[in-house]
Amino acid sequence: MTARHLPLVDEGALPYEHPLYETLLSIPGLSVVTAPLDALLTWGTKNALWVFPMATSCCGIELMAAAASRVDLDRMGTIIRATPRQGDVMVVAGTITVKMAPRVKLLWDQMPEPKWCIAMGSCAISGDFYRDLYPVVPGVDTFMPVDVYIPGCPPNPEALMHGLLRLQEKIGLRREGKLTQAEYRPGLLDLTKPRVGRLGDVTRDAGLSDAQLEDVSDMTRRDLAEESSEIVPRAEPVREAIASSSQEIEALLRDDFGVTEFPKDAAPLVSRGDHRRLAHRLRALGYAQLIYVVATHFPAKKTDPERFEVAYALRSIGRKSTVVAWRVALAADETIASIVGVFAGADWQEREQFDLVGVRFEGHPDLRRILLPADWSGHPLRKDYAADTAHPPWR
Ligand code: SF4
Repeated sequence: MTARHLPLVDEGALPYEHPLYETLLSIPGLSVVTAPLDALLTWGTKNALWVFPMATSCCGIELMAAAASRVDLDRMGTIIRATPRQGDVMVVAGTITVKMAPRVKLLWDQMPEPKWCIAMGSCAISGDFYRDLYPVVPGVDTFMPVDVYIPGCPPNPEALMHGLLRLQEKIGLRREGKLTQAEYRPGLLDLTKPRVGRLGDVTRDAGLSDAQLEDVSDMTRRDLAEESSEIVPRAEPVREAIASSSQEIEALLRDDFGVTEFPKDAAPLVSRGDHRRLAHRLRALGYAQLIYVVATHFPAKKTDPERFEVAYALRSIGRKSTVVAWRVALAADETIASIVGVFAGADWQEREQFDLVGVRFEGHPDLRRILLPADWSGHPLRKDYAADTAHPPWR
């Protein structure tokens, strides 16, 4: 796989001057018109703030509502364009994770100057109640500049409009040279100090911005490095008459798969060697929909060694649809047969369980991480995993 390095331009620190204004200023005698012209240009800039939406969760719904008829952002010249090339204001509306952060930063760097950023909602501002969780960035101002913070969980569309009005005010004051640099207040910053230093915090690690930019340019290469395009052909089972009653299923498990115990409060345990054959058999019996693949980790206790359980559930299609579930117990070092060849839908579900719990599915065509970044270490849904694990340079 060839490495793809994406171009990065970080113009955040450059002062903005309108090129037309600059040209006029250099023509003798024209200074008399530059002031009103500048006011006109600034008025135009302020009233044509096109939003690039970085909406990731619930706050995104409020952002969408703001564009609808009741609040109607259009009336102040603000329209939403899902392209960084035409965007003036990035509105970050929702939780940003360490996997998204490099993409958000890349999109921000692709927006042309002048540009502004609004952090909408407490997740974008600080990570909110997910702040101490391993995948969440503790505020977007830990990797890109923010001009306006809109507090709330979620802020309503009117609050967003208020934020845009404050941004207009800020743009005007900046153009008039009246905007003073916010005073650095270590006491206040210390109150909300995230794991990764905020931009503007004088105590922020000097190499952090470079590390973040480097990570952005590396992310595509990393994510594609192990990608496989192998397609597993699905073995079409020979149709049998649908077994729908629990007695029929129990008889099948007892007679053909040697299951002896049918607990009332859990799915029956099927042996590791039989599990794929069972999936195939149930499919033949009409259980054509895979509902879930869920793994659980049981850490070592005084008498019991560390182990895993993987639970499966299938549903039959059609009238009187029923569900069949089973579990497979694994020792810490054991693998389990993939059922991707029986149910194509098992592909992502098995990858998710591999990513989060660390169970290895033998015969899976592309067993690599799916939710977390490719270079993540450890499996966060194991009981011994620290929930607030750091992932520099993003959290
Ligand atoms: S701030 Fe609240 S509403 Fe907004 S994304 Fe976070 S949890 Fe959802």
